[in-house]
Amino acid sequence: MVSRVIPVETFDLVIFGGTGDLARRKILPGLYRRFWSGQIPEDARIIGSSRKEMDDEAFRAFTRAAIEEFAVDGAGDKAKIAEFLKKLSYVAIDALGENGWDKLSVAVRPGVVRAYYFSVGPSLFGAIAERLHKHNLADDDCRIVVEKPFGHDLDSARELNATLAQFFKETQIYRIDHYLGKETVQNLMAIRFGNVLFEPLWNSQYVDHIQITVAETVGVEGRGGYYDKSGAMRDMMQNHLMQLLCLIAMEPPSKFDHDAVRDEKLKVIRALGDVAPHHIVRGQYLAGDGNNGYREDVENERSHTESFIALKAQIENWRWAGTPFYLRTGKRLKARASEIAVVFKEIQHPIFGQEEGHHRNILSIRVQPNEGIDLTVTIKEPGPGGMRLVDVPLDMSFADALGPSAESVPDAYERLIMDVIRGNQTLFMRGDEVEAAWAWTDPIIDGWQARNDVPKTYDTGSTGPVDSEMLLQRDKRSWREIEP
Ligand code: NAP
Repeated sequence: MVSRVIPVETFDLVIFGGTGDLARRKILPGLYRRFWSGQIPEDARIIGSSRKEMDDEAFRAFTRAAIEEFAVDGAGDKAKIAEFLKKLSYVAIDALGENGWDKLSVAVRPGVVRAYYFSVGPSLFGAIAERLHKHNLADDDCRIVVEKPFGHDLDSARELNATLAQFFKETQIYRIDHYLGKETVQNLMAIRFGNVLFEPLWNSQYVDHIQITVAETVGVEGRGGYYDKSGAMRDMMQNHLMQLLCLIAMEPPSKFDHDAVRDEKLKVIRALGDVAPHHIVRGQYLAGDGNNGYREDVENERSHTESFIALKAQIENWRWAGTPFYLRTGKRLKARASEIAVVFKEIQHPIFGQEEGHHRNILSIRVQPNEGIDLTVTIKEPGPGGMRLVDVPLDMSFADALGPSAESVPDAYERLIMDVIRGNQTLFMRGDEVEAAWAWTDPIIDGWQARNDVPKTYDTGSTGPVDSEMLLQRDKRSWREIEP
């Protein structure tokens, strides 16, 4: 099967924070990969910007090094890289000052799709939006791409939404949650709404519970200062896990259109019930395997911030009443693995003997690594000896099933940037969605701050604190293995 690449129309993309880590690791190599695959037109322009004084050539050298280090495909294609680099230029701008904006006005072209990527710290989002407007760079045709974190609580998210709304319409604002750009996450919608098989079973009558796990092996990785003020709840749960939850739990939208999809996601967030304190487990990793513990990593020996969180959520609507959603995410865990597992109920009337009742169908959607889907089904164990049942996976790894076209699947950032150029907001968070997510998150955080809750410790390389296992054991359930 050959993957189909549909070229986008020409564009000017300005990357504020063009010399930063995200630009170096994801945005610039991702743009090159899209160019290499034939999606970016010859006359598209990419303009890097940050405070650092450098000329176009220096920015091109920076980008070349980033491509060679991070681009999966085409990193060895020197001619193609040289062609790509011709699209690049650089303008030095301090987002908090007034210099450089005139130069930027000259660098971008009127009448073509124009996107401004805010790949800078969130404290600069408002300043850049304001200056784009002030310097006549923010007309109705342009778009802005805003990185996470979008606020640190409901009030700050509202304030940021209000600031951006002064200068841009909601249809011009693309709030990134890169999880939504992942192939499997979109496949989740294809599986649900493109097959007749699953949707009739997708409710509390047939689904026992749902688990969402986003496990990382890394620690805070030099982001200690930021992370200690944020924690797993704000950094991961409020956005990435919440978005996965929305896609798995939402009602079928009437069409695959940005507002239809986002309306349904919003309803899920608004239907989330309060989470009782005993349904939340917070943890901090201990030193191990030659690595620091959390408190050493963030240089705060009294820190009460969580590097792990597990919780049990309920969606209070007709479809999901009585079906718990168990969500967990953490750092320095046993493996890097993100998975959504839909665990179906046991069959009601066993006919093959006592043992049968313990078998369940599980639909597992692996978000990373090895994106794919498998469905556990119960069959007869081969051989003599009567009807002994065994659970086997019907594995569908994308790489195996789709061959070379799966390997050239765009990375989440690549896909999302191309969606910005196309003007497709389906995979971006709307302002009201982000606010609703904070409205659910804030009381949980306020609750543990009021109780002066101290996170439990857990070993590096484990599955998190013991209490996380207990959270499910109390319900006579267990977490799935965290497997790469
Ligand atoms: P970073 O490595 O610290 O880069 C920040 C960039 O902003 C640099 O290019 C910096 O260059 C520029 N900058 C700083 N102050 C500026 C100012 N006053 N005016 C103009 N430019 C300024 O940060 P990052 O990791 O790339 O993250 C960028 C954004 O993406 C953040 O919002 C972050 O939360 C988000 N994000 C990052 C990742 C990731 O993997 N890195 C993942 C998800 C989200 P100068 O110092 O030369 O100005």
